[in-house]
Amino acid sequence: MPATSRGTGLPAEFSASFTTSPDAGTDRMVINISICSSICMPRYHGKRREGNTASTTGAAFTILHSLNSGSAALLRNGFIHLTHGCCRGESVTEYLYMSDVEANYIREFDALVRGSGEGFVVLDRTAFYPLGGGQPCDQGWLEWSGGKVNVREVRKKGGQHMVSSPIPVGEAVHGVIDWTRRYGHMRMHTAQHVVSGIVAHLYGARTVGNQIHAERSRIDFAPASFGDEDLRRIEDAANDAFGSAVPVKIYEIDREELAGLPNLDRANLDLIPEFIKRLRVVEVEGLDVCPCAGTHVRDLGEVGQMRITSRKSKGRDTVRIDYVLE
Ligand SMILES: [Zn+2]
Repeated sequence: MPATSRGTGLPAEFSASFTTSPDAGTDRMVINISICSSICMPRYHGKRREGNTASTTGAAFTILHSLNSGSAALLRNGFIHLTHGCCRGESVTEYLYMSDVEANYIREFDALVRGSGEGFVVLDRTAFYPLGGGQPCDQGWLEWSGGKVNVREVRKKGGQHMVSSPIPVGEAVHGVIDWTRRYGHMRMHTAQHVVSGIVAHLYGARTVGNQIHAERSRIDFAPASFGDEDLRRIEDAANDAFGSAVPVKIYEIDREELAGLPNLDRANLDLIPEFIKRLRVVEVEGLDVCPCAGTHVRDLGEVGQMRITSRKSKGRDTVRIDYVLE
């Protein structure tokens, strides 16, 4: 087909589209389901439970489903029941910034309200970044025929947009992101990748924590101990990179393929759960390759210049640096 499936039987509804094809040489059917799920592992519940589940992060996942009467009925009806592994029963939102680096520049979008609750709405699609991965959530507002509400916070779990007054389910909304704040996060987050990549390359130290803000950010490295000379060296190398037009790319890649690439100091594949077979990767050409779901600028020239403002010890072999962009 392609067909459209609508999740049912859950507190909030969501939709997904899927296409099917025979799994060559077997008695199974491959069902490719496109929903947004960068955040957590989707699980599949067919009308009967004979399906095998293969889950990934990213915008799509694939099920190998036994080709029998159960699946035929399932396909004919065009219904598939899905729940999220870690936010069971809640709506699935498509995150518009995920697909590639250009999508990180979407400042306004149209969407439908798919669910609502105490102080929040859930949209079928959104360009708002939810809190997570060391990057703060976006803020902004939603306009609809009944007015305008501020979005104070966006939560990853369930894709909740926290709003001061409710919007009825089914309403069409126009979302606008506070761009000054978001663009600050994009520049800072891209800078973090470059600094982390340089430190991994020069000192073999891992990035063990980071917190981005629009005005200032910090990164924790271990094992590391930096003197003044080291900080200057890191700053100079980063600013060299920011002074040139180096492209930043965002794409999805199979785990095995990523494992075969050079320059993988920072892929941290050993820290990513085994069941995740497909990853969204941020690549700063020639400098860094790192799985990441955050938002970034398309070119290092947009970052500006970086200045390290402080360094402190955070334990036996961990060093925290703070930096600003100018
Ligand atoms: Zn990142």
